[in-house]
Amino acid sequence: MTDSPVSSGIARLATADAGFEARLSSLLAWEGVSDAAVQQRVDEIIEAVRRRGDAALVEASNRFDRLSATTMAELTLSAERLRQAYDGLPAAQREALAQAAERIRLYHERQKPESWHYTEADGSVLGQQVMPLDRAGIYVPGGKAAYPSSVLMNAIPAHVAGVREIIMVVPTPDGVLNELVLAAAHLAGVDRVFTVGGAQAVAALAYGTETVPRVDKIVGPGNIYVATAKRAVFGQVGIDMIAGPSEILVVSDGGTAPEWLAMDLFSQAEHDEDAQAILVSWDAAHLDAVEAAIDRLLPTLEREAIVRESLARRGALIECASREEAMALINRIAPEHLELSVANPEGWLPEIRHAGAIFMGRYTAEALGDYCAGPNHVLPTSGTARFSSPLGVYDFQKRSSIIHCSAEGASTLGKVASVLARGESLTAHARSAEYRIKE
Ligand code: NAD
Repeated sequence: MTDSPVSSGIARLATADAGFEARLSSLLAWEGVSDAAVQQRVDEIIEAVRRRGDAALVEASNRFDRLSATTMAELTLSAERLRQAYDGLPAAQREALAQAAERIRLYHERQKPESWHYTEADGSVLGQQVMPLDRAGIYVPGGKAAYPSSVLMNAIPAHVAGVREIIMVVPTPDGVLNELVLAAAHLAGVDRVFTVGGAQAVAALAYGTETVPRVDKIVGPGNIYVATAKRAVFGQVGIDMIAGPSEILVVSDGGTAPEWLAMDLFSQAEHDEDAQAILVSWDAAHLDAVEAAIDRLLPTLEREAIVRESLARRGALIECASREEAMALINRIAPEHLELSVANPEGWLPEIRHAGAIFMGRYTAEALGDYCAGPNHVLPTSGTARFSSPLGVYDFQKRSSIIHCSAEGASTLGKVASVLARGESLTAHARSAEYRIKE
């Protein structure tokens, strides 16, 4: 007797269904950081670290990561320790990490914005000077899993930007260090590592303690405690974004193997139960084949339970009427990851207005982008690709405007400024400009 696989429970929708839009909206809805109990706990942790520095940081780390440290010295790693981790890796891991780091570096080198200026006819010079941040804090998650790839994706753009000092924090539950994470920090140019995590680490980076220096910006993903803390300290420091659960939208024209597509959906779903995996196609028979592949392959997954829950909670196979409807869905969803598993992906590009990263064609599995293609894997989630972009070199730089007036330029501009300043009744402004007008 052969067992027929248990159905995945992934939703089957069609754009032609009555109530499709409402169904889609509820699938896409994500409450974000809104838990009042978490908020209160995070506020308390931040306040404690702000007031009592290292002592509170050590206490919180002991409590939430099950440690027994007495001082921050025990939760600090030297550059030498990072190098040892790198040297001690098995050769295959060391080479894969080095290859990924090099590709990520090359990609981000191209992002470097240049300072610029131009000279007007009267000799005045106007421009923009780009400067790196002095000090960046990289949060590397480590509660339930270790993420060496996140070290590379967060620290390399900072390094390429020219940030003077890169401070990394990573929790070590039960005191267990992850050698790949430390090796990645060595490769990516991290200056100092503190083995603390959660809201207490974010607070330490934002306000500084006796041991942890205050940074100018905190980047990196994390769980609800980390995200809530980042939101709370924004303004005191810069932050990159508030990341929601990971998502993928795959569009298939029916020409890609159903097993490949099923596994691409799983690769997002295995992140966590709230991750979102959606496939869109105008070929109903193809959707049937992918659904069958999902049912068949699910039992072969190590993280089957998480994937099942994620597909049942937030996954969908959507049948649309045409390529145009698929395009409208892409821009409506504004996905973090978009896989265009179609014959001519280039033809789609000009119409795609909102997507964090676009994976073109049947061979470009999203997983390649997660680790080593080169572009950043820290991407806007939950529809925020409508207004934000992948983490990049530009996130670790800021711009200053440059204005250098010649005597003639000051005279010309002084007349304009004087009229406008007097219109605003700001006479000191007006007189300051008027002093420089040549009669
Ligand atoms: P984490 O480092 O974000 O959180 C661990 C910390 O949470 C602990 O050190 C502890 O201080 C704190 N914490 C846990 N329970 C607490 C409690 N009850 N009260 C107060 N503090 C508590 O690690 P994680 O939990 O594994 O979460 C990592 C998250 O980052 C996941 O959601 C994962 O999907 C996400 N992630 C995203 C990306 C990306 O690029 N978008 C990459 C990697 C990971």
